[in-house]
Amino acid sequence: MSHVAERTGGCACGAVRLKTTGEPKRGGLCHCLTCRKAHASAFNPFVVFAPQAVEVLGTTQAWLSSPGYVRRFCPECGSRVLAENSDGAGGREIELSSGSFDEIGLFSPQYESWTVRREPWLDHLEAPQYDENRPALPEPAD
Ligand SMILES: [Zn+2]
Ligand SMILES: [Zn+2]
Repeated sequence: MSHVAERTGGCACGAVRLKTTGEPKRGGLCHCLTCRKAHASAFNPFVVFAPQAVEVLGTTQAWLSSPGYVRRFCPECGSRVLAENSDGAGGREIELSSGSFDEIGLFSPQYESWTVRREPWLDHLEAPQYDENRPALPEPAD
């Protein structure tokens, strides 16, 4: 029987809880201006899952940060909870933040995007660097 990783997380006040099943499709750091402001942080360490791999318990509110890109947050404490985006192939995908998970050290970033917005005191990772969004790449067929 193969082991499928189940991980939990949630907002800061606990009104919204998250559960993921399996591994993310990809993950990285985003330094874009919207992530900076939405997270009130220097960057957003994100992981992307298929919609069926993410369970959300509790009520969220949403706002559209760019066309097709919906960011959800906890109305009680204001914590960012997730973002929903097009997967580029007619489906949807869910972006979570590493900081929402209950455990640390779960995910290592695979690339950095919007490096033009990176804080000058922050060193770059030994990983692919993109000035703006990472160009759409074909997903591995697995
Ligand atoms: Zn909350
Ligand atoms: Zn961003």
